[in-house]
Amino acid sequence: MTAGAQAAVTLQGVNTSFGSNHVLRDISLTVAQGERVVICGPSGSGKSTMIRCINGLERYQSGHITVDGIALTRDATSLKRIRRDVGMVFQSFNLFPHLTVLENCVLAPMSVRGMKRAEAKALAMDYLGRVKIPEQARKYPNQLSGGQQQRVAIARALCMQPRVMLFDEPTSALDPEMVREVLDTMVELAGSGMTMLCVTHEMGFARQVADRVIFMDGGEIVEQGAPDTLFAAPKTERLQRFLAQIL
Ligand code: ADP
Ligand code: MG
Repeated sequence: MTAGAQAAVTLQGVNTSFGSNHVLRDISLTVAQGERVVICGPSGSGKSTMIRCINGLERYQSGHITVDGIALTRDATSLKRIRRDVGMVFQSFNLFPHLTVLENCVLAPMSVRGMKRAEAKALAMDYLGRVKIPEQARKYPNQLSGGQQQRVAIARALCMQPRVMLFDEPTSALDPEMVREVLDTMVELAGSGMTMLCVTHEMGFARQVADRVIFMDGGEIVEQGAPDTLFAAPKTERLQRFLAQIL
């Protein structure tokens, strides 16, 4: 990152425990504006917890997090500002089943950003076009395939015009033939300059778009680097073992 440029996301010495389970151990990380970071690591290594900390879905016991220069505290105002600026896409699409695709997309822009319905609709149709499903706008989530639902979830998050997008295993719940269409959407988003943090084990995607891959294990960042370097020459035995399992 060039000197003076404000980081999109910073974590400094973040620790999280659930009871006696110390899940994040002194995590420090700086993500530059426009940077694309892929996070991988074995199940239970703390990836989701870290991602959830960044938009205040999970509390942490010590350390500091900032998003777009705003300190994340337990104060309701800072939480609200940060959640407005951070889009999140989960493994399970979490669409509102009783609302149409379009209504799913206009809800938050209208209620949180105070957008007028007509403006929110125009924006939603624009994003549904970008994720290539504008023709599904009037349908309900259960009338769509998993891949289409996940693309709606991405469009819905983008409708809030976030500064940062967080993805937590967005393709893990999909049938194999639908993984590609969701990854294609994410590749396109990466090309638009969006700051992205993606937990995924799709290493082809990591190679294609990631500026940096972070490998977590046991609540720590064990190794990080450019995808080609990291995959070709893992330094630790832990990463070697992990790559042997997934590649
Ligand atoms: P990953 O996403 O890498 O699989 P998680 O961040 O989901 O890992 O979980 C890390 C550890 O924290 C696991 O041991 C998990 O059981 C525990 N954990 C996660 N969320 C909670 C929670 N809400 N309450 C208690 N334990 C949790
Ligand atoms: Mg997880």
